[in-house]
Amino acid sequence: MSVIDRYSTYLLPRYSNYPCGRYVSLLLVRKVESEAIFRTEGSGEPLNREFVFAGRRDGERQGEQIIPRIVISKRKQTAVERRTGRELLRRYELLGATKTGHCTLNTNTPCERCIDCMIYGYAAGGGGAQKSRVITDDAFSLHSADLVVGERQFNALFDNSTMRNPENRAASTSIGTDEYVRPETTFIDIETLKDVTPDELRYVLGNILRSARYGAISSRIGKLDNIIAGVIFSDCELFSNLELTQNGLRSARQRQRATLSRCMSARSCRPFARAADELRGEVAGQYVALSADEIGDLRREIVELYSNEEALVSMLRRQTESYGSQA
Ligand SMILES: [Zn+2]
Repeated sequence: MSVIDRYSTYLLPRYSNYPCGRYVSLLLVRKVESEAIFRTEGSGEPLNREFVFAGRRDGERQGEQIIPRIVISKRKQTAVERRTGRELLRRYELLGATKTGHCTLNTNTPCERCIDCMIYGYAAGGGGAQKSRVITDDAFSLHSADLVVGERQFNALFDNSTMRNPENRAASTSIGTDEYVRPETTFIDIETLKDVTPDELRYVLGNILRSARYGAISSRIGKLDNIIAGVIFSDCELFSNLELTQNGLRSARQRQRATLSRCMSARSCRPFARAADELRGEVAGQYVALSADEIGDLRREIVELYSNEEALVSMLRRQTESYGSQA
């Protein structure tokens, strides 16, 4: 029996218009593989930073240090994953038709019935809306910005490899410095799915595992690896990204500092699993966490599903058709 089927009682058998209070929290370690740039403004602007306690939320009493952390905004993360999923839906013609063509992201013409519209939400110009069932929060770098940020000068050279235009000797204006996040920087993130079906969970997990490029200039930089460090089923929302990041750093400081920089699987992401365990005491609700072995099995299940085209298409069709039977 697959891991998802084993835990299906914590999911919905089919999509419901009514909130049912079934949550799946995916604890993600997002690891930067090449340099990356996360900012809200354009080129030359600094990276997004927040000043927060290093280790604990109630750090003041503990004499805890305040550090600047780099932030990846919540919208930027899911936008990437939505596009990954929509590529797949487009390939198998599972994006719904609209008056003007096909379901299009961030326009007034969502189809209101494809898997993407139904999970990540839409607001149609005509009045229809579906709230997103993927709840996200800004993600914080585990370590201080002082450690993880580098600076690079950029300049665009002319044909003669100089900063002067060979035609008119004018100096290039395309020069400046850009901050970037160094490779191996770790971000901690929780994506909470609300009232999803087993197939919707498979779809979101597929999008997370298949998305690789985040941030600005993503055709050249911004390679990220997403590692599933924890999966928790519950009847309410859990702790915040910041709390998990702070506890994760503290847990890593106490033990196993080395494993943190080599966090390649759920097993080696133990500091975060432990941090989640510690925060569990503050959750007033039902709470079931997958073991590291189960997370490994779950990941294999998703990888297998996505490498078997027939099984994948039949899963996507099944889920898409199930919305129709609701209406
Ligand atoms: Zn759609």
